[in-house]
Amino acid sequence: MNSRSILAVFAHPDDEAFGTGGSLAHYAAQGVHVALVCATRGEVGEISDPALATADTLGEGREGELRCAAESMGVQQVIFLGYRDSGMVGTTENHDPLAFINAPAEVVVRQLVSIIRENKPQIIVTFEPNGGYGHPDHIAIHHHTVAAFFAAADPSAYPELGSPWQAIRLFYTAIPKSFFHSMKEQMAEQGLDTSQLTRLEEDGAGWPDDQVDLTLDVSDTVQAKWDALNCHRTQFGPNNLFRRLPEASIKILMSYEHFALAYPEHAAGLQLNDLFDDL
Ligand SMILES: [Zn+2]
Repeated sequence: MNSRSILAVFAHPDDEAFGTGGSLAHYAAQGVHVALVCATRGEVGEISDPALATADTLGEGREGELRCAAESMGVQQVIFLGYRDSGMVGTTENHDPLAFINAPAEVVVRQLVSIIRENKPQIIVTFEPNGGYGHPDHIAIHHHTVAAFFAAADPSAYPELGSPWQAIRLFYTAIPKSFFHSMKEQMAEQGLDTSQLTRLEEDGAGWPDDQVDLTLDVSDTVQAKWDALNCHRTQFGPNNLFRRLPEASIKILMSYEHFALAYPEHAAGLQLNDLFDDL
């Protein structure tokens, strides 16, 4: 019986696929229990094709898309926290009382502590502090997950939620700045419009390369990751930025996934080759 377990915690259906889809599939294929928490159903995401959803049905549709992606990656468990997508920064959805960013921290942390104590993961993965590109829900789930990582291990916190559980490592999924740069170069070589990438770079998207602690080669499961992305049909439509390059080229770029070790602090000289190294 394999008792290794990963808990990945994100904000919207599709957050899991791009940064960690290959890794989740890789570990699931090795018999690791992989559970995925999603704070919202992505109710205010894009609708790539009006035949797929309306604004009223998008959340329900995206729940189905996430279940499809989970199946592609071999993720055994999907848990929705039940909040509403808060939308991009500065939009009216930010003010919806049900929006995730308006949920009291103690309520969200309590939910996450309960899930952590039940699942007993060795590894917890969530967004880095900027959530890749600054989405308010990504930043919120980052903060709540870090708080829950520590609270779950604290016997004095939420004693009614069961025995404390100390996950061994907390990782942030990180898209390095060099990823966006390579993609932009390749697109420029093909004469493609790179303005979307320029905007992302100007907005500070991406994680400093020298703060990446672990790069996983996920070429063995990049097809499962691609299939998972394709499950997210409302988001990953024909005009998506990541469909501009030839499929073979983007799959090579997507064959490496990057993590920063948030806890315990990265000891100098520590060379990690795997999320579970030395555990
Ligand atoms: Zn998202």
